[in-house]
Amino acid sequence: MLTSTQALEAILAAMPSLPAESVRLPDSAGRVLRQTVVAERDQPPFDRVMMDGIAIAHEAFAGGTRSFPIQATQAAGDPALSLDPGAAIEIMTGASLPEHADCVIPVERIAVADGVATLEDGYRPAKSQFIHAQASDHAAGTTLLHPGRRIAPADVAVIASAGLARVDVTRAAVTRVISTGNELVAAGRDIAPHQIRMSNGPALVALLARHGHADCAHDHVADDPAALREAIGANLDVADVLILSGGVSMGKADHVPDVLADLGVKVSFHRISQRPGKPMWFGTAPRGQAVFALPGNPVSALVCCRQYVVPALDKAAGALPNTPEFASLASDVTFEPDLTCFQPVSLVSNAAGQLLAMPVRTNTSGDFTALSGTDGYVELPKEQSHFPAGTAVIVTRW
Ligand code: AMP
Ligand code: MG
Repeated sequence: MLTSTQALEAILAAMPSLPAESVRLPDSAGRVLRQTVVAERDQPPFDRVMMDGIAIAHEAFAGGTRSFPIQATQAAGDPALSLDPGAAIEIMTGASLPEHADCVIPVERIAVADGVATLEDGYRPAKSQFIHAQASDHAAGTTLLHPGRRIAPADVAVIASAGLARVDVTRAAVTRVISTGNELVAAGRDIAPHQIRMSNGPALVALLARHGHADCAHDHVADDPAALREAIGANLDVADVLILSGGVSMGKADHVPDVLADLGVKVSFHRISQRPGKPMWFGTAPRGQAVFALPGNPVSALVCCRQYVVPALDKAAGALPNTPEFASLASDVTFEPDLTCFQPVSLVSNAAGQLLAMPVRTNTSGDFTALSGTDGYVELPKEQSHFPAGTAVIVTRW
C-alpha cells in the first residue's frame, strides 16, 4: 500500500499537461498565467508629480526666491510644459514634471495671491521632493510576471500596465464527477427512509470551483456494472479528469475498479495508508485522462479531493506548487493506527501571532456536518501516534 506522499507523487507524475488559450484581460483573474509579462515602458514612464501644488527649480529657492509667479497650470494627462527661470507651474498629482523643474511644493505649503505663489515662512523644500522618478519602479523590458502564477487582482493591474488586452492562460480542465450508489437521491427529489441524500457530488464541485477549477459537471449512476460502464465511458469521451465517488471499497456493490479496468483505464494504485480515505483508487485512461475514484464516505471524499485532486489539477494547469503552511496543534491528538491521519481542524490565531489548529472530532468518516465548521485538516505522520499540543503540523485549507 502506498503512503500518502507516494500516492501524491504518482498522481502528479501521471497528470497530463493542459494547453494554453488566450483570454481577455478581465477574464484572466484566478487563471494560471502561461506567458511572460514584460514591461511595455519605464514605470513611471516619466518623472511623475506626487502632490498637488507647484513645480519650481530648486536652484531658484537656493538663490533666495520665496515668491514665484505662476506661469501656467499643468494637470495629469497634459504634455509637459517648460518652466521659465524663477517661475512656478501649478501642478497636479500624476502630471509629468515640467522641463527645468526639479522640486514639487505641496499646495498646503504655499499661499497664492494675484497669480503669485509664496512659500510658507521657514519652509525648506528639498531638491527632487515629491517626484516619483522615471523608471524608479522598473525599466522598460523588465520581466514582471513569470508563467505559473495564478493571476491575482494586483497581477491584473500589472498585465494591464504592460498594455496587454489579452493574455495566455491554461485552458480549464474539463472535469466530470460521478456519484455512484443505489441509495443516493439528489436534493429536491422525494426520498424514502432507507435512502441517502447525495451530498458528495455538489461538495466536490464546490471544492474544485473554489480552487479555480470550474468546468465541472456532476452525474449520478447506480451500482450497476452496465450503467457504470456507459456513464464512465461517456464522461471519459469528453473529460480531461474524471472523479468518481463511492464504489471502491470491498463490498459486493463496489464495481468501480472492475468497470474502469474493462474500459482500459490503467490502475496506478488502489488504497493509501491513510485515514480517512484509505480505499482511494487512481488510474490513467487511454487518452491520458486522470481518473480518481474516491471513497464514498463524505469526509473521505472531501479530504481525498483536496489532498490529491486539487494539486493534480493545479499541476495539469502548470501552476507553481504552493509552499506548505504550518500550524501548531492546539490540543493533544492520539492516533494509534499505522496510517497517516488527516485530522479536520478549525484554525485560530493567538495574540503571539501563531496559527493554532484545533482538532474537530468527526463522528466516523461519514460525519460531514462536523466538517462544515472546519477550515481544513492537518497531516499527522503515520510514524507517530501521540501528537502533543504545540506540535508543528502541515495544514491544508479546504
Ligand atoms: P461507498 O464508498 O460507496 O461504500 O460509500 C460509503 C458510504 O458513503 C455509504 O454509507 C454511502 O451511502 C455514503 N455515500 C456514498 N456516496 C455518497 C454521496 N455522494 N453522498 C453522500 N453519501 C455518500
Ligand atoms: Mg456505494
